[in-house]
Amino acid sequence: MKGSLKLGRIAGIKIQVHWTFLLLILWIVVLELTKGNSTEAILWSTFFIMVLFGCVVLHELGHALTAQRFNIPTQQITLLPIGGVASLEKMPEDPKEEFLVAIAGPAVNVVIALILYMVLPMEQFLVEDPEMAEEVLSTINGSNFLFFLFSANVLLVLFNLIPAFPMDGGRIFRALLSLKFSRVQATRMAAKLGQLVAFFFLFIGLFYNPILILIAIFVYFGAQGESVMVQQLAILKDHNVEEAMMTNITTVLPEDRLEEVIDIILTGTERDFIVAQNGEVKGVLYQSALIEAFKSNRSDLRVKDIMDKDVKTIQASDDLTTIYRMIQSKTKSFFPVLEGDELVGAVDRENVNEFMVFHGLGHDRLLGSQSKA
Ligand SMILES: [Zn+2]
Repeated sequence: MKGSLKLGRIAGIKIQVHWTFLLLILWIVVLELTKGNSTEAILWSTFFIMVLFGCVVLHELGHALTAQRFNIPTQQITLLPIGGVASLEKMPEDPKEEFLVAIAGPAVNVVIALILYMVLPMEQFLVEDPEMAEEVLSTINGSNFLFFLFSANVLLVLFNLIPAFPMDGGRIFRALLSLKFSRVQATRMAAKLGQLVAFFFLFIGLFYNPILILIAIFVYFGAQGESVMVQQLAILKDHNVEEAMMTNITTVLPEDRLEEVIDIILTGTERDFIVAQNGEVKGVLYQSALIEAFKSNRSDLRVKDIMDKDVKTIQASDDLTTIYRMIQSKTKSFFPVLEGDELVGAVDRENVNEFMVFHGLGHDRLLGSQSKA
């Protein structure tokens, strides 16, 4: 995520904090100031938030390390004002695995809360007398710090278990639904419930806590995005690259002048080109790179000077979901397709989109006619 500060690495996973996290600290400080609290109280509160987010990192590591056991790597864990986000490469498709990955996060907070529960003199804080309780717990300080941390971890567990897909509880819910329904149906149902809960969060947030509004937005669009993704992946599944690729492509040579490529563009419909020599792929020439070169008056350059040499090739027999994931996670959108060592075509984002549109329509009709029957 842009605008993040790297804190370090744990088990090969980058831990970073997004700049908006500063807004949370600022908000806490302002809140304390309006209450008329002392500098000491403000420092304790700030320290508390930092330690709490330490627990959030452990929670996210719970997800990431469990996913690692199922061979799913995690690029990074990012801390945002609304909590942590572990960027898993994907979620496991097996419901049991997804269940374990989803529950591992809250389980970490359960363990933290249990440990604190055992070391803390609980009766000191859980006083019956409301006036005394208010005195003991009005502000965070050295004597009640761990009790606040205990309470926050309990709240983290409860909050995360709310079935608001794509939050943990929602993922657990989808995993359970997947035992009975298809993954697409299970996701659709979990996403619907997630969006309903998001409206509830928004409503509560408007009156009580602005952070809940942010979470509502995150849940609403997260649910929608992931539901669409699962539907698209289902369309692409069991189809290979060969079915969507372009076979009628023009390749260019590394030594070609840029004007020659411009001529091809102007007389045809191709945008990006595979650079090949003697049947071997040397690079990819993007139209954007060509436009850049012309803007800076470097039309004297050759193809090899501006081509992208870091090419990802794909096999014609590969699953279309592979390319979908590559397009989603990488910045690249155009791939040479090989059959063995031989170049047989190219595939880009538009091809995959077209494939989904045409095959998706078929799917919808199929589903429609089934439900009528
Ligand atoms: Zn979680």
